[in-house]
Amino acid sequence: MNGSLMTRRGLIAGTATILSAPALGQGTRPPVVDVDVVVIGAGAAGIAAARRLKAAGRTVVVVEAKDRIGGRAHTDVVTFGVPMDLGAHWIHAPADNPVVPLAKAAGFDLYDDPERPRLLIKGRGPREGERESFAGALRRSQRAILDAGEAGREVPLSEVMPSDLADWRPTIEFLRGAWDSGKETSEISCVDFYNALETRDQFCRQGYGAVIEKLGEGLPVRLSTAVTRVDWSGRGVTVETPSGKIQARVAIVTVSTAVLASNVIRFAPAIPKRQLDAIQALGCGAYEHLIVHLADNPMDAKPDEPFVVKADTSATAKPLARIGGSDWWYLDIGGKFARDLANAGPTAMKAFAAEFVGNELGPRARRALGEIHVTSWTTDPFIRGSWSVAGPGATGQRLRLAEPVGQRLLFAGEATDDGLWGTVGGAWASGERAADAAVRIVAPQPAGNRQTNPPNRR
Ligand SMILES: Cc1cc2nc3c(=O)[nH]c(=O)nc-3n(C[C@H](O)[C@H](O)[C@H](O)COP(=O)(O)OP(=O)(O)OC[C@H]3O[C@@H](n4cnc5c(N)ncnc54)[C@H](O)[C@@H]3O)c2cc1C
Repeated sequence: MNGSLMTRRGLIAGTATILSAPALGQGTRPPVVDVDVVVIGAGAAGIAAARRLKAAGRTVVVVEAKDRIGGRAHTDVVTFGVPMDLGAHWIHAPADNPVVPLAKAAGFDLYDDPERPRLLIKGRGPREGERESFAGALRRSQRAILDAGEAGREVPLSEVMPSDLADWRPTIEFLRGAWDSGKETSEISCVDFYNALETRDQFCRQGYGAVIEKLGEGLPVRLSTAVTRVDWSGRGVTVETPSGKIQARVAIVTVSTAVLASNVIRFAPAIPKRQLDAIQALGCGAYEHLIVHLADNPMDAKPDEPFVVKADTSATAKPLARIGGSDWWYLDIGGKFARDLANAGPTAMKAFAAEFVGNELGPRARRALGEIHVTSWTTDPFIRGSWSVAGPGATGQRLRLAEPVGQRLLFAGEATDDGLWGTVGGAWASGERAADAAVRIVAPQPAGNRQTNPPNRR
């Protein structure tokens, strides 16, 4: 540890708000900041880690490339007239989700997801027997995947899906693969799928992203500051950014596995093979919201009503109607189709959305269609996908990635949680675990500054 705690406390007191990176004049030497822990990324994991470290009396700085906090949890409160989540929206596993009690305590309004989807077949409701035949096919697939996962079979979902799904196969492939996981069923391990906690979801009236933003208030976050290099060759860690260096005893790295795999952050020495293999094995899929305005409720949909549209190809979407009771709908796309479309750009995404509304929701919806907005997580250089998914044989890599490296580098983020992987709740839990590990690594707390940390989730 370098520098005195007094100095660090002073630093934190002076930066205990969200900071933008200062512009450096020519010839100005960038300042070197010295803290116990530097956190890279101000998404759910980074915010959770910083809160925990602050509560434990440790000095911390969070470095964030974007000009806002929240990462993949972000609510747009400007464009839509209602809070609109552009990233995470479903509050998964509320009973096990560490964000839920914090959101409630902060006054956020959480309510249950209506859950039971309406089935649409080329703009019409199901005829006799069609709903039952879909439900049966879905149930059989789910059972086969969960049985394989429970048995510890590290095989892809596609290998165990029943062969008798008839013309429901593309729909079920989409639901279990692209929509649930952002990848194709051939790329998802049954064990990873089985490990994911599944219960009834909730929504947040003010937006899920707004919760993370609120929970990040008052933390020392340096916005618009992309980390370019992490030097962990010495006793501690030096994090390099265009606006200066940060020295710390420990670094907590929370960027997505897709960002890590892209090598835009250079590590010196290189990330060890054990962690590198985990990063490769936990690659991100693709998932985007196409957000369409359908005036005057042409489908007589209930607020937040989920739909399933019968598909005959992977070029399909899943509607979530009337978000928060508004006229805005998500048409969510995922997997390879979403990746290709996102790479093709917003015009192609909007064209698909308009075509989908006309072809799949029917003529009334086509007439009601107004503005279309699209997200771009796949092409965002600081995200590069949706969330991590373990392929066959790779489930164990999640906990491997979370192992401390050289007692000074800790990887956290959604990819490192086994039960809530791919979710905001999992990211949060991982940030808290990494903070606890960092506290154990950093020298013991000075007398009089001891606090009891809440217990680990596991
Ligand atoms: C479209 C979409 C829908 C989703 N839906 C849901 C959902 O309904 N429910 C749910 O629970 N989860 C959902 N998820 C997943 C969820 O959003 C993520 O699992 C979670 O937010 C990840 O948090 P994190 O802290 O691990 O990572 P991130 O949120 O990615 O945070 C990492 C941060 O690091 C920053 N960063 C990157 N590079 C650098 C750099 N060089 N220097 C400094 N900072 C850097 C990034 O800007 C980012 O802010 C969704 C994701 C997407 C994309």
